[in-house]
Amino acid sequence: MLIVKKFGGSSVADATCIRRVAKTITDSYKEGNKVVVVLSAQGDTTDELIEKAMEINPEASKREMDMLLATGEQQSVALMAMAIEAMGYPVISLNAFQCNIYSTSTYSNARIKDISTERIENELENKNIVIITGFQGINRHLDVTTLGRGGSDTSAVALAAKLNADICEIYTDVDGVYTADPRVVKNAVKLNEITYDEMLELATLGAKVLHNRSVELAKKYNVNLVVRSSITNAEGTVVKEDAKVEKMLVNGVAVDKDVARIAVIGLKDEPGVAFKIFSLLSKAKISVDLIIQSIGRSDTKDISFTVSRNACNDALKVLTENKASLGFEDITSNTEVAKVSIVGAGMATNPGVASMLFEATYDEGINVKMISTSEIKISLLVNEKDADRAANAIHDKFITEDLKTRR
Ligand code: ASP
Ligand code: MG
Repeated sequence: MLIVKKFGGSSVADATCIRRVAKTITDSYKEGNKVVVVLSAQGDTTDELIEKAMEINPEASKREMDMLLATGEQQSVALMAMAIEAMGYPVISLNAFQCNIYSTSTYSNARIKDISTERIENELENKNIVIITGFQGINRHLDVTTLGRGGSDTSAVALAAKLNADICEIYTDVDGVYTADPRVVKNAVKLNEITYDEMLELATLGAKVLHNRSVELAKKYNVNLVVRSSITNAEGTVVKEDAKVEKMLVNGVAVDKDVARIAVIGLKDEPGVAFKIFSLLSKAKISVDLIIQSIGRSDTKDISFTVSRNACNDALKVLTENKASLGFEDITSNTEVAKVSIVGAGMATNPGVASMLFEATYDEGINVKMISTSEIKISLLVNEKDADRAANAIHDKFITEDLKTRR
């Protein structure tokens, strides 16, 4: 089999971790597999490199930032190759330049365009274990780029797709994908399977197990993806097109506290008002999440929306500066809110989900401020102080109950 294994920063944080991972890699190689390994920078290296840069120049160009950040992954691959060498196995480490990982030019947030895999394939033919830097690419100027924080997952999936790997294993410090963050929801359990679409919603909601673009890519190229622990031998979670075994109504509850709500009150009730507001925000590169428009008094309306907390002041500023042309009466903001979302492919075909959800929040006496729905997701905005309680209640109602009936 051709196997791509990706290890995150915490799995290669120090010499002991590196040796443990080296053993996992060589065990798989000994079984006769072709093994391609993708690594992140060790531990907090990327954060530390960013701090160093900020000390020198807080306005450092993105090109130079990428030049610096890419070194973290280069350290990991060399150290891993040395550990494997010491164990007596043939191994070679390669960076993005050496294995032709071509990306777009956008420094700090580049996307992989193509990988020409001859070098990697030759190394595999020569019986080498191949260790590749995650997170980095090269652009058309032959400059180093990085793929955005957490981007090593995407490197691994892209390589697996391009090499036609039999499996892409993402090793991390948790043993799989959970129904909720176990630090928040006490009854959270590990899932054996999850669909690409569900995983994508969860990844986008900030459940930090996988980089969301890695899931997009896995879906597009139908990569056989598994999330598993680098420490225990537990089975992990399989991410695939159609998870048949556990057809759960809801299989993820996520809490996002990086949310602020802005309400623009007393807008004229006429066409184009929403367009003006959101185009101003978009020009300021502020992304908006939940949106509600409500009817106000005598020919006016209110529009509320959420943004991330660090964008709140900027959003208030842009809109206030344009108060005259937008013609609103008042603008308010609230940063003590949080978003609680449920995700599940089963929702699309089951009509009872919304009512169960509101029953759960009602039973807890939690007031819901905003609601948004999609095929396989419902998000609620609640007061931040209620968010964890809401998540637990919702998790119990949907998931804990569901699992009970399966036993
Ligand atoms: N080292 C990079 C980061 O910390 C990429 C990754 O770990 O996936 O974001
Ligand atoms: Mg990661």
